[in-house]
Amino acid sequence: MKRVGAHVSTSGGVENAPINAKAIGAKAFALFTKNQRRWTAKPYNTENIRDFKENCEKKGYAPNHILPHDSYLINLGHPEAQGLKKSRGAFLDEMQRCEQLGLSMFNFHPGSHLRKISPEKCLKRIAESVNMALDKTKDVSAVIENTAGQGSNMGFLFEHLAGIIDLVEDKSRIGVCLDTCHTFTAGYDLRTKKAFDETFDKFDGIVGFKYLKAMHLNDAKPDLDSRVDRHESIGKGKIGIEAFSFIMNDKRFDEIPMILETPDSTIWPKEIKLLYSLEKA
Ligand SMILES: [Zn+2]
Ligand SMILES: [Zn+2]
Repeated sequence: MKRVGAHVSTSGGVENAPINAKAIGAKAFALFTKNQRRWTAKPYNTENIRDFKENCEKKGYAPNHILPHDSYLINLGHPEAQGLKKSRGAFLDEMQRCEQLGLSMFNFHPGSHLRKISPEKCLKRIAESVNMALDKTKDVSAVIENTAGQGSNMGFLFEHLAGIIDLVEDKSRIGVCLDTCHTFTAGYDLRTKKAFDETFDKFDGIVGFKYLKAMHLNDAKPDLDSRVDRHESIGKGKIGIEAFSFIMNDKRFDEIPMILETPDSTIWPKEIKLLYSLEKA
């Protein structure tokens, strides 16, 4: 079955995330393990951890349906020593928070070269950063998100994702999350069946479906190949509803978290229903 959900709030405590997800009819959810705009956060206490696990079980969410997202400040490919060190420390801390919650995946944006090092060097650095975090943890996989390629962000080409995976030592703990908005604005068309098939054939050839661990379902405000990251509600952007119908009727997307990060959270319950209504029996 398909696992459509949304990126829900943890306000009042991480243990509220599964409750918030259930309330909107989600069959998967994403969350931040801490404030996404700060470097540090106080550790979880034993009650947070116990209640989170309990609520997930009560509401029917397994670890592989939950996709924690890293903080926006982290840059695992940072060109400068200090920024890199800070990012690696924060990344490891978040990965350990995921472990504490009993989660199996950690979704991150690869990183940016800030025009100070070459893209190749930046990819190498990202892989090194991932290796260091995987070394110090044991149950969580690192899930690279493809990007729109805005600014100097790496990860907009499937080759970037494959390049990172190639350099990661433990291939059993590395995966990919494809964001439909980022995919489209990075230049991969999804709007017709032909374009959709070509894009995912390309993905399969370059990265491989076995690495696909999650999706972010977002329509796009900007055009194909604009390299701009701005999400739109499903069916209201430049991608359009058809692409989502292709996804909802494709077995390759079964059982992985498919997370809405669309701008109007008040219509998430409707968007989730809309997506399920696209499924053909
Ligand atoms: Zn995303
Ligand atoms: Zn985005």
